[in-house]
Amino acid sequence: MYKNILCAVDISREGESVLKKAHALAEEYGSNLSIVHVMEYSFLPKDYQKQLKEKVLPKIEKMAEKFNIKKKNRFVKFGQSYSVICEMQNKHKADLVVIGSHGKHGVKALLGSTANAVLQQVKSDVLLVKLH
Ligand code: AMP
Repeated sequence: MYKNILCAVDISREGESVLKKAHALAEEYGSNLSIVHVMEYSFLPKDYQKQLKEKVLPKIEKMAEKFNIKKKNRFVKFGQSYSVICEMQNKHKADLVVIGSHGKHGVKALLGSTANAVLQQVKSDVLLVKLH
């Protein structure tokens, strides 16, 4: 049903449960699964961005390894989260984007700001994993 699934992961505890669902779906449908993590620090000097990326990469790699995500399907990008997620959906022709209902900022509202913006703007189906 879905050929290319893109899962947006943050580095909160819930990030992994979102990926777990995406992985289960990909197994079920035989889909190609990619993950993207976005670092919202594109305004910082390049050297500093590099240092931050090096700090985050092991966490993303660990998650990716756990769910057997191919190396070529792991992306860590700089920019505004929702905007990068939508660009990636387009570029990689993902027919399903999997995101959590809220991320590292906790449950302030039913939908976090990234989830809300992606739902409104992305061109594919979206699976919203409801986090408690
Ligand atoms: P939020 O709307 O920011 O509370 O987060 C909702 C969901 O959007 C999270 O559960 C993730 O799936 C995704 N998300 C949030 N921030 C990021 C990020 N920096 N990189 C990738 N995905 C993210």
